[in-house]
Amino acid sequence: MAKNILQDALTRLDNIAKNNAQFNPILEALNQPQSTLTSNIAIRKDSGDTAYFKAYRCRYNDLLGPTKGGIRFHQDADQNEVEALALWMTLKCAVVNVPFGGAKGAVTVDPKQLSPMELERLARAYIRANADFIGPQLDIPAPDVYTNARIMGWMMDEYEKITRTKCPDVITGKPVAFGGSLGRDSATGRGAFLCVEALANKLDWQVQDKTVAVQGFGNGGYHCARLLQGAGYKIVAVSDSKGGIYCEQGLDIESVYEEKQRSNTLKAVYCQHSVCEDREHTRISNDELLTLDVDLLVPAALAGVITADNVDQVHAKYIVEIANGPITADVDQQLNAQGTQVIPDILANAGGVIVSFFEWCQNRQGEAWSEQKVHDKLADYMHSAFEQAWQHYQQGDDSMRVSVYKLALKKLSEALEAHGTAD
Ligand code: GLU
Repeated sequence: MAKNILQDALTRLDNIAKNNAQFNPILEALNQPQSTLTSNIAIRKDSGDTAYFKAYRCRYNDLLGPTKGGIRFHQDADQNEVEALALWMTLKCAVVNVPFGGAKGAVTVDPKQLSPMELERLARAYIRANADFIGPQLDIPAPDVYTNARIMGWMMDEYEKITRTKCPDVITGKPVAFGGSLGRDSATGRGAFLCVEALANKLDWQVQDKTVAVQGFGNGGYHCARLLQGAGYKIVAVSDSKGGIYCEQGLDIESVYEEKQRSNTLKAVYCQHSVCEDREHTRISNDELLTLDVDLLVPAALAGVITADNVDQVHAKYIVEIANGPITADVDQQLNAQGTQVIPDILANAGGVIVSFFEWCQNRQGEAWSEQKVHDKLADYMHSAFEQAWQHYQQGDDSMRVSVYKLALKKLSEALEAHGTAD
């Protein structure tokens, strides 16, 4: 992973915009976050001891609307990473035409070391520390790495207690029983799947021939793999933080998922194909998975997994980034030279924030949309952003990443211009 991930993100932005003077004002505006709140939050452990955790909320830029972005619980999270992720949220909302600015939050914690009660106390403590910084028309959190609907429910409950209001539109990705949207849970994976579908249409793919490897079997990776398999793709490898499994014949994603739910591991899944010699799937490491000779590689775990150290071993023809920032900026050129096309994170993983926007709209209007309506509207948003990026890509020498970034910068430049200067 890049040492300074925010710097890496800004360097990529500069490289993309450097020959376009029209982007200078927006580059200056995006050169640093508008504001970041850091806090030290304390919770009572089940043992009775007190534990302290570093917490962050960055509102990177609000030109397009109230800021929006998830909160992650991860032991490696820090201010630099949160700010980079909040910058990407700013670009992501711009690309897919969602009227939000970009934000992100995090607690530096290994959530696997906490009991459910401790996790609830941590979620509530996070909101107490950040209650003045968030709000339904100011900054709207959502789930991210190792946070989920249940945690969002606790957070919203705490916010409502503090403000003595009913405020479903302050947090998205909540449980459906508490104002959440149908279709939000699978939205990130579905959005990435829709991108692959759009790409396949453009390239006239026979999907049955196409092989896929998915790194990360969380919410995004699982749903994308499930939908791709349903459409006929062969998912030859998946992994979680402990490693992965490989089957040349194609894995059955539902049984892998069931096993993961049951035993929290991928290793004990058995292969159903009579042609497979071994009944148990071949184990592969996360590093090996990235180097598989597949048509489509889907990094769906953490940032900075494809770097100068391993880029020359990447054989995939296409990469669809579900994780935020899985490829460091310094290898963009080399991937282009290798002929690997990348559908970048700020488009490929935007399904989550798009359906978060739908959830916020439903909450503000007192409505509850059908799952089909959510799926259909998500497809509209994804297809229209993909199409715009594709048109740009077809017209010149820019890669898909550069095309998508230029779309975002254009949108943000127009907003900057429209705002005017206050003094
Ligand atoms: N955490 C997700 C992301 O990185 C979703 C953010 C949201 O729904 O606000 O895009």
